[in-house]
Amino acid sequence: MAYLEFKFEDEITKYIREQELATSLKFVTLGKDKSFGQKDAQPLARKKLSWESKSIPFNGVPFQVVGTKTYECHQGKDRQTKAKEKYAAERDKKEREDHAFVKRRKLVQNTKKVDCKAIINIAQVIRFPDFKIEESTVCCKKEASQTLKAALSFTPSSVKAEVVYCVRFPSLSEHSSHAVVGEAAYVREAVDARLREKIEQLTLSGVRKMTEMKCHLNTFVVEELFHGEQPPPPTRRRYYPTDSDIRNVMFKTKQATRDSNIDRPYEGPSGRGKNRSSRKLLRLRRQCAGYLKEITELTYHLQEEQYVTDLSSQLRSVLLDMKAHVPQDKGLPLTFSPRKRKAETDMDLIPTKSASHPFIDGLEQHTEDIVSVDTLLALSLGLRTECVGSATN
Ligand SMILES: [Zn+2]
Repeated sequence: MAYLEFKFEDEITKYIREQELATSLKFVTLGKDKSFGQKDAQPLARKKLSWESKSIPFNGVPFQVVGTKTYECHQGKDRQTKAKEKYAAERDKKEREDHAFVKRRKLVQNTKKVDCKAIINIAQVIRFPDFKIEESTVCCKKEASQTLKAALSFTPSSVKAEVVYCVRFPSLSEHSSHAVVGEAAYVREAVDARLREKIEQLTLSGVRKMTEMKCHLNTFVVEELFHGEQPPPPTRRRYYPTDSDIRNVMFKTKQATRDSNIDRPYEGPSGRGKNRSSRKLLRLRRQCAGYLKEITELTYHLQEEQYVTDLSSQLRSVLLDMKAHVPQDKGLPLTFSPRKRKAETDMDLIPTKSASHPFIDGLEQHTEDIVSVDTLLALSLGLRTECVGSATN
Protein backbone atom coordinates (compact mmCIF):
# COMPACT_ATOMS: atom_id res chain seq x y z
CA MET A 1 0.00 0.00 0.00
CA ALA A 2 1.05 3.55 -0.59
CA TYR A 3 0.20 6.58 1.50
CA LEU A 4 0.07 9.87 -0.41
CA GLU A 5 -1.00 13.44 0.27
CA PHE A 6 -2.51 15.93 -2.16
CA LYS A 7 -3.41 19.59 -1.89
CA PHE A 8 -6.33 19.46 -4.35
CA GLU A 9 -9.02 16.91 -5.12
CA ASP A 10 -8.48 16.92 -8.89
CA GLU A 11 -4.84 15.93 -8.33
CA ILE A 12 -6.09 12.67 -6.80
CA THR A 13 -8.38 11.92 -9.73
CA LYS A 14 -5.46 12.59 -12.07
CA TYR A 15 -3.17 10.32 -10.04
CA ILE A 16 -5.73 7.49 -10.04
CA ARG A 17 -6.19 7.79 -13.80
CA GLU A 18 -2.41 7.71 -14.29
CA GLN A 19 -2.17 4.56 -12.17
CA GLU A 20 -4.96 2.97 -14.19
CA LEU A 21 -3.17 3.78 -17.42
CA ALA A 22 0.11 2.34 -16.13
CA THR A 23 -1.58 -0.91 -15.06
CA SER A 24 -4.59 -2.97 -16.14
CA LEU A 25 -6.59 -1.79 -13.15
CA LYS A 26 -9.64 0.38 -12.86
CA PHE A 27 -11.27 1.96 -9.83
CA VAL A 28 -14.87 3.07 -9.49
CA THR A 29 -16.42 5.33 -6.85
CA LEU A 30 -17.88 3.34 -3.98
CA GLY A 31 -19.02 6.12 -1.68
CA LYS A 32 -18.55 9.77 -0.76
CA ASP A 33 -19.57 12.00 2.15
CA LYS A 34 -21.63 15.08 1.34
CA SER A 35 -18.99 17.25 2.96
CA PHE A 36 -16.10 15.74 0.99
CA GLY A 37 -14.43 18.28 -1.29
CA GLN A 38 -15.83 21.25 0.65
CA LYS A 39 -13.90 24.33 -0.48
CA ASP A 40 -14.26 26.54 2.60
CA ALA A 41 -13.85 23.86 5.26
CA GLN A 42 -13.17 25.43 8.68
CA PRO A 43 -11.94 23.85 11.92
CA LEU A 44 -14.51 23.56 14.70
CA ALA A 45 -13.79 23.60 18.42
CA ARG A 46 -16.41 20.92 19.16
CA LYS A 47 -15.41 18.58 16.37
CA LYS A 48 -13.49 15.39 17.11
CA LEU A 49 -9.69 15.58 16.92
CA SER A 50 -7.81 12.61 15.54
CA TRP A 51 -4.16 11.55 15.47
CA GLU A 52 -4.38 8.65 13.10
CA SER A 53 -6.95 6.50 11.30
CA LYS A 54 -6.97 3.25 9.41
CA SER A 55 -5.89 5.09 6.27
CA ILE A 56 -3.83 7.91 7.83
CA PRO A 57 -0.69 6.89 9.71
CA PHE A 58 0.39 8.69 12.89
CA ASN A 59 2.82 11.56 12.25
CA GLY A 60 2.28 13.57 15.45
CA VAL A 61 0.00 16.22 13.87
CA PRO A 62 -3.66 16.31 15.01
CA PHE A 63 -6.43 16.69 12.45
CA GLN A 64 -10.19 16.93 11.93
CA VAL A 65 -11.85 14.99 9.13
CA VAL A 66 -13.93 17.07 6.70
CA GLY A 67 -15.15 14.20 4.58
CA THR A 68 -14.15 10.90 3.02
CA LYS A 69 -14.42 9.21 -0.36
CA THR A 70 -13.81 5.60 -1.29
CA TYR A 71 -13.03 3.95 -4.60
CA GLU A 72 -13.11 0.21 -5.16
CA CYS A 73 -11.57 -2.06 -7.77
CA HIS A 74 -14.00 -2.46 -10.70
CA GLN A 75 -13.85 -6.20 -10.08
CA GLY A 76 -15.08 -5.74 -6.53
CA LYS A 77 -18.35 -6.82 -4.96
CA ASP A 78 -21.28 -7.34 -7.30
CA ARG A 79 -23.89 -4.86 -6.05
CA GLN A 80 -26.42 -5.72 -8.74
CA THR A 81 -27.14 -9.32 -7.72
CA LYS A 82 -30.69 -8.53 -6.58
CA ALA A 83 -31.50 -6.74 -9.86
CA LYS A 84 -29.91 -9.55 -11.88
CA GLU A 85 -31.86 -12.22 -9.99
CA LYS A 86 -35.07 -10.27 -10.55
CA TYR A 87 -34.33 -9.96 -14.27
CA ALA A 88 -33.58 -13.70 -14.58
CA ALA A 89 -36.76 -14.60 -12.69
CA GLU A 90 -38.86 -12.37 -14.96
CA ARG A 91 -37.19 -13.79 -18.06
CA ASP A 92 -37.87 -17.37 -16.94
CA LYS A 93 -41.46 -16.50 -16.10
CA LYS A 94 -41.98 -14.94 -19.52
CA GLU A 95 -40.53 -18.04 -21.17
CA ARG A 96 -42.87 -20.33 -19.22
CA GLU A 97 -45.97 -18.23 -19.86
CA ASP A 98 -45.41 -17.35 -23.51
CA HIS A 99 -43.56 -20.55 -24.46
CA ALA A 100 -41.13 -18.20 -26.16
CA PHE A 101 -37.38 -18.41 -25.90
CA VAL A 102 -35.83 -15.17 -24.71
CA LYS A 103 -32.48 -14.61 -26.36
CA ARG A 104 -29.61 -14.80 -23.92
CA ARG A 105 -25.86 -14.57 -24.20
CA LYS A 106 -23.66 -17.59 -23.66
CA LEU A 107 -21.26 -16.58 -20.94
CA VAL A 108 -18.65 -18.66 -19.20
CA GLN A 109 -18.62 -16.10 -16.40
CA ASN A 110 -21.65 -13.84 -16.29
CA THR A 111 -19.97 -10.99 -14.40
CA LYS A 112 -16.59 -9.33 -14.18
CA LYS A 113 -17.16 -8.88 -10.45
CA VAL A 114 -15.06 -11.27 -8.38
CA ASP A 115 -15.37 -9.63 -4.97
CA CYS A 116 -11.91 -8.05 -5.09
CA LYS A 117 -11.27 -6.24 -1.81
CA ALA A 118 -8.86 -3.55 -3.04
CA ILE A 119 -10.06 -0.06 -2.15
CA ILE A 120 -8.69 3.48 -2.19
CA ASN A 121 -9.47 5.50 0.95
CA ILE A 122 -9.37 9.28 0.69
CA ALA A 123 -9.84 11.63 3.62
CA GLN A 124 -10.03 15.40 3.34
CA VAL A 125 -8.66 16.69 6.64
CA ILE A 126 -7.78 19.95 8.37
CA ARG A 127 -4.37 19.60 10.00
CA PHE A 128 -2.92 21.64 12.86
CA PRO A 129 0.88 21.53 12.41
CA ASP A 130 1.60 23.85 15.39
CA PHE A 131 0.21 21.22 17.76
CA LYS A 132 2.49 18.40 16.71
CA ILE A 133 3.50 15.96 19.44
CA GLU A 134 6.63 13.85 19.46
CA GLU A 135 5.38 10.71 21.13
CA SER A 136 2.21 8.74 20.51
CA THR A 137 1.16 8.51 24.17
CA VAL A 138 -2.26 9.06 25.72
CA CYS A 139 -0.84 11.77 27.94
CA CYS A 140 0.76 13.77 25.10
CA LYS A 141 -2.39 13.49 22.94
CA LYS A 142 -4.68 14.58 25.78
CA GLU A 143 -2.59 17.60 26.65
CA ALA A 144 -2.22 18.78 23.04
CA SER A 145 -5.93 18.20 22.36
CA GLN A 146 -6.99 20.35 25.30
CA THR A 147 -4.68 23.24 24.30
CA LEU A 148 -5.82 23.05 20.66
CA LYS A 149 -9.53 22.96 21.54
CA ALA A 150 -9.12 25.96 23.83
CA ALA A 151 -7.34 27.86 21.08
CA LEU A 152 -10.07 26.95 18.55
CA SER A 153 -12.72 28.19 21.01
CA PHE A 154 -11.18 31.48 22.02
CA THR A 155 -8.74 32.58 19.29
CA PRO A 156 -9.57 30.49 16.18
CA SER A 157 -7.80 32.95 13.85
CA SER A 158 -4.51 32.32 15.64
CA VAL A 159 -4.61 28.57 14.93
CA LYS A 160 -2.68 27.56 11.85
CA ALA A 161 -4.81 25.10 9.86
CA GLU A 162 -4.11 23.42 6.53
CA VAL A 163 -6.45 21.39 4.35
CA VAL A 164 -4.97 18.25 2.86
CA TYR A 165 -6.25 15.13 1.10
CA CYS A 166 -4.77 11.92 2.53
CA VAL A 167 -4.92 8.92 0.22
CA ARG A 168 -4.31 5.28 0.97
CA PHE A 169 -3.66 3.48 -2.29
CA PRO A 170 -3.81 -0.35 -2.29
CA SER A 171 -0.84 -2.45 -3.36
CA LEU A 172 -1.18 -4.98 -6.20
CA SER A 173 -1.24 -7.81 -3.67
CA GLU A 174 -4.44 -6.41 -2.14
CA HIS A 175 -6.32 -7.22 -5.34
CA SER A 176 -7.86 -10.64 -4.83
CA SER A 177 -9.41 -13.25 -7.12
CA HIS A 178 -8.21 -11.67 -10.36
CA ALA A 179 -5.02 -11.18 -12.31
CA VAL A 180 -3.39 -7.75 -12.05
CA VAL A 181 -0.57 -8.06 -14.58
CA GLY A 182 0.01 -9.62 -17.98
CA GLU A 183 -2.28 -11.16 -20.56
CA ALA A 184 -4.72 -12.59 -18.01
CA ALA A 185 -5.29 -9.09 -16.61
CA TYR A 186 -5.81 -7.62 -20.08
CA VAL A 187 -8.81 -9.93 -20.63
CA ARG A 188 -10.78 -8.17 -17.88
CA GLU A 189 -9.50 -4.67 -18.53
CA ALA A 190 -12.06 -1.87 -18.59
CA VAL A 191 -12.31 0.19 -21.77
CA ASP A 192 -10.35 3.45 -21.64
CA ALA A 193 -12.59 6.45 -20.87
CA ARG A 194 -11.28 8.33 -23.92
CA LEU A 195 -12.18 5.40 -26.14
CA ARG A 196 -15.67 5.17 -24.66
CA GLU A 197 -16.10 8.85 -25.45
CA LYS A 198 -14.88 8.26 -29.00
CA ILE A 199 -17.38 5.41 -29.49
CA GLU A 200 -20.16 7.72 -28.24
CA GLN A 201 -19.11 10.45 -30.67
CA LEU A 202 -18.91 8.03 -33.59
CA THR A 203 -22.29 6.53 -32.73
CA LEU A 204 -23.87 9.99 -32.61
CA SER A 205 -22.30 10.85 -35.94
CA GLY A 206 -24.00 7.81 -37.47
CA VAL A 207 -21.37 5.04 -37.48
CA ARG A 208 -23.25 1.72 -37.15
CA LYS A 209 -21.02 -0.95 -38.67
CA MET A 210 -18.65 -2.76 -36.33
CA THR A 211 -15.85 -2.92 -38.91
CA GLU A 212 -16.07 0.81 -39.54
CA MET A 213 -16.22 1.58 -35.82
CA LYS A 214 -13.13 -0.56 -35.13
CA CYS A 215 -11.25 1.06 -37.97
CA HIS A 216 -11.95 4.55 -36.52
CA LEU A 217 -10.96 3.39 -33.03
CA ASN A 218 -7.68 1.87 -34.22
CA THR A 219 -6.81 5.11 -35.96
CA PHE A 220 -7.71 7.03 -32.81
CA VAL A 221 -5.47 4.83 -30.60
CA VAL A 222 -2.49 4.82 -32.95
CA GLU A 223 -2.63 8.39 -34.25
CA GLU A 224 -4.04 10.31 -31.30
CA LEU A 225 -3.66 8.48 -27.97
CA PHE A 226 -0.21 7.08 -28.84
CA HIS A 227 0.92 9.62 -31.39
CA GLY A 228 4.67 9.29 -31.89
CA GLU A 229 4.87 6.39 -29.45
CA GLN A 230 4.81 2.62 -29.63
CA PRO A 231 1.08 1.70 -29.65
CA PRO A 232 -0.07 -0.87 -27.05
CA PRO A 233 -0.26 -4.58 -27.99
CA PRO A 234 -3.58 -5.70 -29.51
CA THR A 235 -4.18 -7.86 -26.43
CA ARG A 236 -4.88 -4.72 -24.36
CA ARG A 237 -8.67 -4.67 -24.03
CA ARG A 238 -8.42 -1.11 -22.67
CA TYR A 239 -7.35 0.12 -26.12
CA TYR A 240 -8.76 -2.64 -28.31
CA PRO A 241 -12.22 -3.28 -26.85
CA THR A 242 -14.15 -6.40 -27.79
CA ASP A 243 -17.15 -6.26 -30.12
CA SER A 244 -19.42 -6.62 -27.13
CA ASP A 245 -17.70 -3.71 -25.28
CA ILE A 246 -18.24 -1.53 -28.35
CA ARG A 247 -21.82 -2.68 -28.83
CA ASN A 248 -22.62 -1.92 -25.17
CA VAL A 249 -21.39 1.68 -25.46
CA MET A 250 -23.19 2.12 -28.81
CA PHE A 251 -26.39 0.71 -27.35
CA LYS A 252 -26.25 2.98 -24.29
CA THR A 253 -25.54 6.01 -26.44
CA LYS A 254 -28.42 5.27 -28.78
CA GLN A 255 -30.71 4.56 -25.85
CA ALA A 256 -29.76 7.83 -24.12
CA THR A 257 -30.35 9.80 -27.31
CA ARG A 258 -33.64 8.07 -27.92
CA ASP A 259 -34.81 8.62 -24.36
CA SER A 260 -34.01 12.31 -24.63
CA ASN A 261 -35.64 12.84 -28.04
CA ILE A 262 -37.82 10.38 -29.80
CA ASP A 263 -39.50 8.50 -27.03
CA ARG A 264 -40.10 11.44 -24.78
CA PRO A 265 -43.78 11.32 -23.92
CA TYR A 266 -45.90 14.44 -24.01
CA GLU A 267 -45.59 15.92 -20.54
CA GLY A 268 -48.12 18.70 -20.79
CA PRO A 269 -47.40 22.42 -21.12
CA SER A 270 -46.39 22.72 -17.48
CA GLY A 271 -43.80 19.98 -17.81
CA ARG A 272 -45.40 18.18 -14.89
CA GLY A 273 -46.85 14.71 -14.84
CA LYS A 274 -43.64 13.07 -15.97
CA ASN A 275 -45.12 9.63 -16.31
CA ARG A 276 -42.70 7.60 -18.37
CA SER A 277 -44.08 6.20 -21.55
CA SER A 278 -44.79 2.55 -21.04
CA ARG A 279 -42.68 -0.06 -22.73
CA LYS A 280 -45.73 -1.19 -24.62
CA LEU A 281 -46.27 2.27 -26.06
CA LEU A 282 -42.64 2.46 -27.14
CA ARG A 283 -42.88 -0.92 -28.81
CA LEU A 284 -46.07 0.06 -30.62
CA ARG A 285 -44.53 3.33 -31.81
CA ARG A 286 -41.57 1.48 -33.25
CA GLN A 287 -43.92 -1.01 -34.85
CA CYS A 288 -45.84 1.86 -36.51
CA ALA A 289 -42.62 3.50 -37.66
CA GLY A 290 -41.55 0.13 -39.12
CA TYR A 291 -44.79 -0.23 -41.09
CA LEU A 292 -44.52 3.32 -42.36
CA LYS A 293 -40.94 2.80 -43.46
CA GLU A 294 -41.94 -0.30 -45.38
CA ILE A 295 -44.90 1.50 -46.94
CA THR A 296 -42.56 4.30 -48.02
CA GLU A 297 -40.19 1.86 -49.66
CA LEU A 298 -42.97 -0.03 -51.44
CA THR A 299 -44.53 3.20 -52.67
CA TYR A 300 -41.73 3.69 -55.17
CA HIS A 301 -42.51 0.38 -56.82
CA LEU A 302 -46.20 1.07 -57.42
CA GLN A 303 -47.23 1.08 -61.09
CA GLU A 304 -51.03 1.34 -61.19
CA GLU A 305 -52.18 4.95 -61.21
CA GLN A 306 -55.64 4.18 -59.87
CA TYR A 307 -54.17 2.27 -56.93
CA VAL A 308 -51.77 5.11 -56.13
CA THR A 309 -54.67 7.58 -56.27
CA ASP A 310 -56.66 5.47 -53.80
CA LEU A 311 -53.64 4.96 -51.59
CA SER A 312 -52.95 8.66 -51.52
CA SER A 313 -56.50 9.32 -50.43
CA GLN A 314 -56.25 6.69 -47.68
CA LEU A 315 -52.94 8.05 -46.45
CA ARG A 316 -54.36 11.54 -46.36
CA SER A 317 -57.15 10.27 -44.11
CA VAL A 318 -54.56 8.63 -41.86
CA LEU A 319 -52.63 11.89 -41.75
CA LEU A 320 -55.68 13.91 -40.75
CA ASP A 321 -56.59 11.30 -38.17
CA MET A 322 -53.06 11.35 -36.74
CA LYS A 323 -53.08 15.13 -36.54
CA ALA A 324 -56.14 14.89 -34.35
CA HIS A 325 -54.25 12.57 -31.98
CA VAL A 326 -51.06 14.53 -31.42
CA PRO A 327 -50.60 17.65 -29.29
CA GLN A 328 -50.98 20.77 -31.38
CA ASP A 329 -48.25 22.80 -29.68
CA LYS A 330 -45.69 23.88 -32.28
CA GLY A 331 -42.85 23.73 -29.80
CA LEU A 332 -43.31 20.04 -29.03
CA PRO A 333 -40.75 17.48 -30.14
CA LEU A 334 -43.14 15.73 -32.49
CA THR A 335 -40.59 14.91 -35.11
CA PHE A 336 -38.09 12.07 -34.96
CA SER A 337 -35.29 14.09 -36.52
CA PRO A 338 -34.43 17.57 -37.75
CA ARG A 339 -34.81 16.24 -41.27
CA LYS A 340 -38.43 15.58 -40.60
CA ARG A 341 -39.05 19.15 -39.53
CA LYS A 342 -37.81 20.12 -42.95
CA ALA A 343 -40.23 17.66 -44.50
CA GLU A 344 -42.96 19.20 -42.43
CA THR A 345 -42.01 22.62 -43.79
CA ASP A 346 -41.93 21.19 -47.29
CA MET A 347 -45.38 19.81 -46.78
CA ASP A 348 -46.68 23.22 -45.76
CA LEU A 349 -45.21 24.65 -48.93
CA ILE A 350 -46.64 22.08 -51.29
CA PRO A 351 -48.22 24.07 -54.11
CA THR A 352 -51.55 23.05 -55.57
CA LYS A 353 -50.53 23.22 -59.23
CA SER A 354 -47.66 22.54 -61.63
CA ALA A 355 -44.83 23.96 -59.50
CA SER A 356 -41.54 22.25 -58.79
CA HIS A 357 -41.52 19.97 -55.74
CA PRO A 358 -38.85 17.57 -54.56
CA PHE A 359 -41.20 14.63 -54.37
CA ILE A 360 -42.46 15.21 -57.87
CA ASP A 361 -39.22 16.17 -59.55
CA GLY A 362 -36.95 13.47 -58.24
CA LEU A 363 -38.80 10.63 -56.63
CA GLU A 364 -35.93 8.17 -57.03
CA GLN A 365 -33.48 10.51 -55.32
CA HIS A 366 -35.44 10.30 -52.09
CA THR A 367 -35.80 6.59 -51.74
CA GLU A 368 -33.08 6.41 -49.09
CA ASP A 369 -33.92 9.66 -47.37
CA ILE A 370 -37.42 9.03 -46.35
CA VAL A 371 -37.79 7.27 -43.07
CA SER A 372 -40.02 9.41 -40.97
CA VAL A 373 -43.75 9.60 -40.50
CA ASP A 374 -44.08 13.20 -41.58
CA THR A 375 -41.96 12.59 -44.63
CA LEU A 376 -44.17 9.73 -45.65
CA LEU A 377 -47.22 11.86 -45.19
CA ALA A 378 -45.63 14.64 -47.17
CA LEU A 379 -44.96 12.03 -49.81
CA SER A 380 -48.60 11.04 -49.91
CA LEU A 381 -49.52 14.66 -50.54
CA GLY A 382 -46.80 14.94 -53.15
CA LEU A 383 -48.15 11.96 -55.01
CA ARG A 384 -51.61 13.45 -54.91
CA THR A 385 -50.29 16.67 -56.39
CA GLU A 386 -48.56 14.65 -59.08
CA CYS A 387 -51.81 12.88 -59.94
CA VAL A 388 -53.67 16.19 -60.06
CA GLY A 389 -50.90 17.63 -62.21
CA SER A 390 -50.99 14.81 -64.73
CA ALA A 391 -54.76 14.90 -64.84
CA THR A 392 -54.83 18.59 -65.73
CA ASN A 393 -52.17 18.24 -68.41
ZN1 LIG B 1 -9.02 -5.76 -7.90
